[in-house]
Amino acid sequence: MKKHNYSAGPCILPQEVFEKSAQAILNFNNLDLSILEISHRSKDFVTVMEEARALVLELLGLEGKGYQALFLHGGASLEFLMVPYNLMKDNGKAAYLDTGTWASGAIKEAKYFGETVTVASSKAENYTHIPKDFTVPSDADYFHCTSNNTIFGTQMKSFPQLHIPIVCDMSSDIFSRSLDFSKFDLIYAGAQKNMGPAGTTLVVVKEEILGKTGRHIPSMLDYQQHIIKESMYNTPPVFPIYASLLTLQWLKKSGGIPAMEKINEAKAALLYAEIDRNPLFTGTAAKEDRSVMNATFVLNDEKHTETFDKIWKAAGISGLTGHRSVGGYRASMYNALPLESVQVLVEAMKELESSIS
Ligand SMILES: *Cc1c(COP(=O)(O)O)cnc(C)c1O
Repeated sequence: MKKHNYSAGPCILPQEVFEKSAQAILNFNNLDLSILEISHRSKDFVTVMEEARALVLELLGLEGKGYQALFLHGGASLEFLMVPYNLMKDNGKAAYLDTGTWASGAIKEAKYFGETVTVASSKAENYTHIPKDFTVPSDADYFHCTSNNTIFGTQMKSFPQLHIPIVCDMSSDIFSRSLDFSKFDLIYAGAQKNMGPAGTTLVVVKEEILGKTGRHIPSMLDYQQHIIKESMYNTPPVFPIYASLLTLQWLKKSGGIPAMEKINEAKAALLYAEIDRNPLFTGTAAKEDRSVMNATFVLNDEKHTETFDKIWKAAGISGLTGHRSVGGYRASMYNALPLESVQVLVEAMKELESSIS
């Protein structure tokens, strides 16, 4: 039987995506060829790329609004530097909200390009909450934030209204909840958290914000080059893009983002209710900032660790261990994780309680 997979990333994808992508490796589109052995310029693959790019904009409600979707290489981490490269003016300034390890990684890269203002940080409290009282300098070239902090289990529930471009790292909650995505000028996400296998990064960018830095940008790092070349400047990561397309198709068929949001909220409500009810556990994130995607929690008494680990492993659960920098447990409940898997986890937590009383 398949495991209940709580891995934070790479992570669970819909079963039909695994099956269809396995089939495409053997025989893609009945071409009697594998998707791994055809040209990325072939009609069959160009169609995959076009469909994936269009479906992203459709699902996010951004069609016809001046946005372009790109599938790039290098992970979300490369966007940490592509964003300032493409958006920070020479001698310019950028504003960042520091809500966790990934946000601070983005800040570190931006500092190579110009003045980088951290408008607020929750680092002193080990990133257990999202700072809310902050002012963004109106002369910054852009504001950067991280919508969901995969490691610390916090999630931004609201975003500032600004007159400068807003850039958001949505790696771990893209396609999971309804937002007015047109409020963002650039969204990026590594595929491997809610969309596909590792190896491609989704970038959704409003074209009008590009081309204003006055600096020369090497082609591979230039969003405008990737747009002109329709996301095929060089050989794209064909397999991760194909599997991402399958996930996007599954998402659309399942009712799109609103349907995902509903089930994601039900899953999170079920788990957080047990974390709050069960006297053996405590959630580590501030309640109002709790992530619907990644729930972080600890055992109040570490002496139960061995017993609890035995119980959840025996229940067929995988990937529940917290990030190495935080410890404890982390339940990642991405779109493809069924509600039944959360029920199994809640049962395991209850079983621990009854086993020691
Ligand atoms: C995982 C993650 C990253 C890093 O992604 P890579 O594709 O491995 O570079 C960046 N930001 C967030 C929010 C993440 O969850």
